[in-house]
Amino acid sequence: MSEHDHNDSISLESLAKIKNFIQKLTGVESFVASHEGLPIEEYGYDDPQKAEVEAALSEDLLKASSDIITSALGEKPPNKVSLLLKNDRSIDIIKINEIIITLKGQVKPLNEATTLITKYLKNKKIICPYCNTDLTLETYICPNCSATVPFATQHCPHCSTDLAIKTCPSCNNPITYDGRKVIYKEEISNRSLLIMDTMLVAIIGAMIGWLAQPTIISAVIGAMIGGGATYFILRNIFKAKKKIVIRD
Ligand SMILES: [Zn+2]
Ligand SMILES: [Zn+2]
Repeated sequence: MSEHDHNDSISLESLAKIKNFIQKLTGVESFVASHEGLPIEEYGYDDPQKAEVEAALSEDLLKASSDIITSALGEKPPNKVSLLLKNDRSIDIIKINEIIITLKGQVKPLNEATTLITKYLKNKKIICPYCNTDLTLETYICPNCSATVPFATQHCPHCSTDLAIKTCPSCNNPITYDGRKVIYKEEISNRSLLIMDTMLVAIIGAMIGWLAQPTIISAVIGAMIGGGATYFILRNIFKAKKKIVIRD
């Protein structure tokens, strides 16, 4: 086996980052990155030989499925093979720039991890629109079930909690799971009722003002006090926070 220039395309540093990401995730059991069947980086194997066996198997599996799919179906070779195991577990095998990555674990968390690793290695990273922090391999603790999940997850893969909007761990700004800005805009929930009520109380205020002193000035002051007070009180009652997601 010759020394290949596989480090040109995927750096050892990025594989170490992936390992670090995988280690933290709840529900992901093992990871091995290999080149020509030889492990480069691994996690979750008590015996390094097991990692080597799985890496070699992945290589064979990917090659066999590629052969079948290209020759029998005339399709392009797949760069991902997923095998469902018993008890809601699976093995994901992905191939990016001659590096084969094999992951094993629970179906949903594994699928999220595989997707993000692929994005990371294909340079389709999830970046904070405020501080430019790379969030692709960032993790997050689900507030509902306490599982460690990827930051860039929309729903918790363990308990399905909506995690679409979180604050950036680096700059604390609210952003979406896929790196878009979230702007909170104040909006009055019932504008027509607010205007109608304000006008009604302004008329009553004008009448009271007129009764106190039958001059235009007195009526106007009465209308302003009644209408103004009503407007400010009801405005706070009807105030609703509405979030608007803006694509950066
Ligand atoms: Zn959860
Ligand atoms: Zn940020």
